[in-house]
Amino acid sequence: MSTTYATPDTIAEACALLETPGAYALAGGVAFTMALTKGQIDPASIVSLARLDGLRGVAAEPAGGFSIGALSTHGQLLRDERIATYEPQLREMFADVGNVRVRAVGTLGGNLAYADPRHDPAPLLGALGAEVVIQSGAGKRTVPVADFATGSFATVLQPGELLCSVNVPARPAGTRIGWCKLQTNSLDDYATLSLAVGFEESNGRISRPRILVGAADTHVRTQRAAGLLDGADINADGRVAPELIEEVADALAADIKPCSNHRGSVMYKRDLVRVALNRAMMRTANSAKAQGCSL
Ligand SMILES: Cc1cc2nc3c(=O)[nH]c(=O)nc-3n(C[C@H](O)[C@H](O)[C@H](O)COP(=O)(O)OP(=O)(O)OC[C@H]3O[C@@H](n4cnc5c(N)ncnc54)[C@H](O)[C@@H]3O)c2cc1C
Repeated sequence: MSTTYATPDTIAEACALLETPGAYALAGGVAFTMALTKGQIDPASIVSLARLDGLRGVAAEPAGGFSIGALSTHGQLLRDERIATYEPQLREMFADVGNVRVRAVGTLGGNLAYADPRHDPAPLLGALGAEVVIQSGAGKRTVPVADFATGSFATVLQPGELLCSVNVPARPAGTRIGWCKLQTNSLDDYATLSLAVGFEESNGRISRPRILVGAADTHVRTQRAAGLLDGADINADGRVAPELIEEVADALAADIKPCSNHRGSVMYKRDLVRVALNRAMMRTANSAKAQGCSL
């Protein structure tokens, strides 16, 4: 069967084309072309997003925070001063995606839509409370980044739906964020394990804690472990009791389902989650400096 190739000029046209069974969106093509050449996908039609210029760039939202167009590349995002001001760890994360070639063409939308559990943006954006904006012929819907991937290489996207942007909310006062990516091979390799933690702090107490773990089977939103932080005391230096961090790490290690591969064994990765949590929690103490910034 031959594959058709379309370059729609509008989002509505793209959504209509994506309703066809076997239709795939094509953004930067980094993951798509690898899957195609390895015979992992057999598209009936390819819908290029190249002409949808409205899906590029970063824009301030009236309610605070900002919206990132799905076609923005990792390279564009790491160079955006407004993103770095909002949260320096976001710039660090985009700078850590693959290598310069991947960052030059790979897009945030393609990264999230491919839902490779080793990818970096989802855990940190999820911990920041970001939402994915999805459009189809039926209209728009939003889904928290934390709930967008339903498994490895699986998302909530339905036929005819296009990931259009990612909304990063204004940061309530006292928001703290910590991100950690651990690699056992080269620095341009995928994460062996990554972890992001986010919470709000007021009057020396933690509320609305979120922990997301990457590279552990799927992006794991670890509600049980995060719940242990809810209401916990936090001292003047922004630190939480080490015993509590140990307890949370135990819960995380029990809840993740990492695979054994050349980056490490299951046991090693369960141990690594403790290291990642401790480092991310240490970074939450400094992240308060960025709070209150909005575009
Ligand atoms: C050598 C190498 C190293 C890498 N290292 C890292 C790393 O360290 N960290 C990391 O996070 N990632 C890493 N990546 C992955 C890379 O970031 C992603 O492959 C890239 O971001 C995908 O974006 P893309 O625009 O190329 O998507 P594409 O390849 O064009 O698309 C990927 C998938 O998403 C779908 N899609 C694309 N855009 C949309 C949309 N807007 N709406 C709906 N569906 C859509 C496509 O149909 C396809 O199924 C690495 C990749 C390589 C090759």
